[in-house]
Amino acid sequence: MRVWKIKGRLVSEMKMTEAILGAIRENMRHAKSGAFYEKCFAGIEPADVRTDRDFQKLPFTEKEDLRDAYPMGLCAVPEERIIRIHSSSGTTGTPVIIPYTRKDVDDWAFMFSRCYETAGVTQKDIVHITPGYGLWTAGIGFQLGAELLGAMTVPMGPGNTDKQITMMMDMKSTVLCATSSYALLLAEKISSRGVRDKIHLSRALIGSERWGEKMRRRIASELGVRLYDIYGLTEIYGPGIGISCDGECGMHMWTDFLYYEIIDPRNGKRVKEGDVGELVITTLQKEGAPLVRYRTHDLTRELPGDCVCGRPYPRIDTLIGRSDDMVKVKGAIIYPSSADGVLSKIDGVSSEYQIMIDHLNGKDIVTVFFETEETGDDSMAVLEKTVKDSFKETIGIMIVAKAVALGDLPRSEKKSTRIFDNRY
Ligand SMILES: [Zn+2]
Repeated sequence: MRVWKIKGRLVSEMKMTEAILGAIRENMRHAKSGAFYEKCFAGIEPADVRTDRDFQKLPFTEKEDLRDAYPMGLCAVPEERIIRIHSSSGTTGTPVIIPYTRKDVDDWAFMFSRCYETAGVTQKDIVHITPGYGLWTAGIGFQLGAELLGAMTVPMGPGNTDKQITMMMDMKSTVLCATSSYALLLAEKISSRGVRDKIHLSRALIGSERWGEKMRRRIASELGVRLYDIYGLTEIYGPGIGISCDGECGMHMWTDFLYYEIIDPRNGKRVKEGDVGELVITTLQKEGAPLVRYRTHDLTRELPGDCVCGRPYPRIDTLIGRSDDMVKVKGAIIYPSSADGVLSKIDGVSSEYQIMIDHLNGKDIVTVFFETEETGDDSMAVLEKTVKDSFKETIGIMIVAKAVALGDLPRSEKKSTRIFDNRY
């Protein structure tokens, strides 16, 4: 199988090298043959991208932009070379269509089989696939990678949990591919049916999303499996562009097929090495729909040093949330999930809260309003102190805590906004 190398070396460093710049220019030239980047890069010559600095001046590509290219505006090759499309829906309106050439499909399968290998899956394994098949990239990606590896696949798709479990027992499935929530549901069903000893699973590949350590431990112990986080998104092939290894320290990214950066989502600048920021991906080999500086909106950080497993591919940390939900204040990052985490551990604090961030007299002031059933001034003051201390301890910032009565904070039928940044 082809492993793409630049001047005989795997692209295994995040440092921008001449070889990577060359690959990026090539990708840009190719991308410009499609209508989408012809427009985006109007006035930009790929040959002018000579340094990392030049590269960093290139515009980002946003998912919204891809929607505008519906249906086939992203296509950078003659349409007869496209053998398949996938689509990501998102929450609003027009879907994004991603066209794939034969090479794109093969490359994706190759990356995915490398994921399985990294997770210790072999030809002898029986791979039970529960993500959906169809326009969505998940199921078919798991399928292609396992077939290329030579393992036996059981292409279940989602739903009908009882049948899944019966099939899992009868086929003696050894590897489970699932989302974290479906893996948990299966684990609970297996436990309630009392068939744990008839299940042969030893590994589970879980589509990467932000999921808690508690849930992870539960799935691992109830199914008796070792867990691997697999990363990907439809716009960049699909799942399978990175995976965690037995070192359990972040996910290796297949940098022979893509170049990635971690940026500060507020200003678009690269973060310092090791700092949390948004993952931005540039494809290096994609034909059907090449992408340059695509903003994933996934928050993570670059992990320094070599992995204990010895693989040469750099690693990003487990995802910690979405950049759309985060704010940076006093050098610390707050996102709803971290505030939820702090408040949910404090007795007497209800689930409703709001965070206001203001800039007064040259300082950022963070005020956390939370609802409580407590009514006495003293008990409210005690709670306020607990909330203040917990924020300091867990997130590392000083806040002003204000207890209010149940029902005092505004309610919304839509997804409620929790953090209000009034500084800008
Ligand atoms: Zn590793």
